[in-house]
Amino acid sequence: MSVREDRYILLRARKLITCSDIGVIDHPNILIKGDKILDVGKEGEVTVPRNAEIIDLEGQTLLPGLVDAHVHLSGRRSYNPSEYFVVPHDLKVIRAVDDCKKLLLSGFTTVRDMGSRIALSLKRGINEGTIIGPRIIAAGRPISQTGGHGDIHYLPREEVLRRGFLLADGVDDCRRAVREAIRDGSDVIKIMTTGGVGSEKDAPWYPQFTIDEVKVIVEEAHRVGRRVASHAQGAEGIKIAILGGVDSIEHGYFLDDEVIKLMLDYNVYYVPTLCLVEVYKKSLERGYDMPRWRLEKQKMCIDAMPKSFLEAYRAGVKIAAGTDYFGAPMRRHGDNADEVITMVKYGMDVMDAIYAGTRNAAECLGLNNLIGSIEPGKKADIIGLGGDPLKDINELKKVMFVMKDGVIYKNSIVIN
Ligand SMILES: [Zn+2]
Repeated sequence: MSVREDRYILLRARKLITCSDIGVIDHPNILIKGDKILDVGKEGEVTVPRNAEIIDLEGQTLLPGLVDAHVHLSGRRSYNPSEYFVVPHDLKVIRAVDDCKKLLLSGFTTVRDMGSRIALSLKRGINEGTIIGPRIIAAGRPISQTGGHGDIHYLPREEVLRRGFLLADGVDDCRRAVREAIRDGSDVIKIMTTGGVGSEKDAPWYPQFTIDEVKVIVEEAHRVGRRVASHAQGAEGIKIAILGGVDSIEHGYFLDDEVIKLMLDYNVYYVPTLCLVEVYKKSLERGYDMPRWRLEKQKMCIDAMPKSFLEAYRAGVKIAAGTDYFGAPMRRHGDNADEVITMVKYGMDVMDAIYAGTRNAAECLGLNNLIGSIEPGKKADIIGLGGDPLKDINELKKVMFVMKDGVIYKNSIVIN
């Protein structure tokens, strides 16, 4: 959906968390022209054009649209491997369309999809106005080594390729895989430099790819302006990713002092997907439909995750919020504020956690000139909450107002 360039909207509210250097403004006015923010200030400080539509979000706290730096819009609803066989592709697309709507209406105006071929078309559908959803930065097909985390170990190789994964081995093949992803329309390149929890025959501490393979992937991506994000859980594979030149480390469950120092030296973003620690804990009680091997591996990550997160945070590593939600129970789209909430629960300052879900995530995606804070010149991506998240971070889940690109998608003011 697009908006008329000469249309003015003035938003009034109780409080504004700008996520810019200005900080918090009480009784703010935000003037929007078309899809952009024109002016921000205290009530009375902003000159309001006579034809501006005034929207009074009385009592609400406004902040920039939230950003989830790690999602999968894959339309899956289960942890069970059989879902690959029994759910038709078209049904997964329909579910993913619904997930886009849920994301937007829960205040997420931008997401980075870290692996799903469907997301490439969802992005186009949203941009052309066919469906509603967040702005999507999509990785498309992730690149894994043979037998790596992105390989689906219980399927025949040809089937894995058909389902939207790129398998590459050796320097030349890795270069080809990046070119394939870019041919698909990937905005960002996703690789895997360790095994993982959801892959049957490897483990989070197995290193995958070599430094030379990662280097060529990064070289090929960077020459056409694409960033590289690496799924990396164990320390050895994280080091391979950083020394290879990637831009962000996804998960990073088992950090050590050397890795943290490398993250700082190489100015790498860390997307800890910390909310999964709660998912892993809950799954020990209920199991859901997870295979046993998955439950065993999750159990082994639980203690390390909050520890790694807190050590990296205290050392000053740049942290962005990403949930790794994909639609299964406990990981449903619409609940993505869980990551910021969990960061606070495990010791992050509330404002830093809000930054992780707004301006830091925007910077991690390379969109900080466009989104992530409420200031003149940026896109009008603005959300309104019923209460103040600085007092209770759970307020992030009570989104009453959503504007993306200057278009209002939700406005649930109760008129008495
Ligand atoms: Zn993921």
